[in-house]
Amino acid sequence: MLIDNHGRVINYLRLSVTDNCNMRCQYCMPAEGIAFSTSKELLTWDEMFLLASTFVELGIKKIRITGGEPFVRKGLMEFLHKLAAVEGLEDISITTNATLIGEHIAALKKLNILNINVSMDSLDKERFNTITRRDYFDVVLNNVHRLLQNGFNVKINCVIMGGQNTDDIIPFINFANDYKVDVRFLEEMPFNGHSTGFDNLEWDYKKIMGVIQSRFDAIHPIPSVVGSTSENYIIDNRKGSFGIIPSFSRTFCGTCNRVRLSAKGELQTCLYTNESISLKKVVTENMNAQTVKPLIIKAIASRFKDGFEAEEKTIFKKSMSLIGG
Ligand code: SAM
Ligand code: SF4
Repeated sequence: MLIDNHGRVINYLRLSVTDNCNMRCQYCMPAEGIAFSTSKELLTWDEMFLLASTFVELGIKKIRITGGEPFVRKGLMEFLHKLAAVEGLEDISITTNATLIGEHIAALKKLNILNINVSMDSLDKERFNTITRRDYFDVVLNNVHRLLQNGFNVKINCVIMGGQNTDDIIPFINFANDYKVDVRFLEEMPFNGHSTGFDNLEWDYKKIMGVIQSRFDAIHPIPSVVGSTSENYIIDNRKGSFGIIPSFSRTFCGTCNRVRLSAKGELQTCLYTNESISLKKVVTENMNAQTVKPLIIKAIASRFKDGFEAEEKTIFKKSMSLIGG
């Protein structure tokens, strides 16, 4: 079991398989993109598998595949096939923009990879396309419907941005009325690849909740599972639920159970820091779990207490597509 220096059990790995993406969401990266990694810089699939299975040997029970956009990297499905057979790994889930998932729905179902988080920041086509700087609204909505029809557990992640999509809050709540989907509103973080950080955030979780409370009465909290970053609620007689992720306010650090591995093999033990340990060189030189284990254990034994402590040493120049969310 992995336990950090603050007594928190670490059992969740967010694994970024690429930093590349076919969208250019405004909150995530500039219109021209970022300096994407070369294929030489990326972990190979074999290296990634070795690291992922080593994490599982050490106590990781859940792996979330993220990116960049995971499905832009060739070989993802073969990797998932191998990962799904790793003993001790209880849950594989994916965060995706859902543009390319369509052709893989049947195979994912076969692998029992049923927990899919879809980033969708508007139910209005024009707004969606403005935010993502691409024209994929119809594809994404169609894939969300197909996932639901096929019995997947779908969560929709919607980053709320003042002046952009605050009028989407109520339509998304209504979407969770019509479909068995969990909609989660995320506070925007200054991780768009060129930000110098925000001092404060207008659309924080309290303001988002205020909009919902002004329209609905019967809102009931759902008890959170340990390590959850969202406060979840259900409204009477609804099929789905909604949640708010205070990613900027960071009220969840006390129960943080996760670490992140970037597509380049950088192990990052807190979302809010730029500090990481490179595991790429070690696995490239020596494909051996025993060599990386002490590095992982050491990194977990020196985690920041919370995102505020981590941020003191951070310059927010990163794009979320490098970190994986
Ligand atoms: N491409 C995939 C997607 O969009 O779902 C996976 C990677 S994306 C970086 C992972 C998550 O990070 C998405 O849910 C996205 O909404 C969230 N994200 C990206 N930039 C963010 C920001 N500046 N603030 C809050 N969330 C952000
Ligand atoms: Fe791509 Fe996801 Fe970033 Fe949007 S949030 S640009 S889909 S990596």
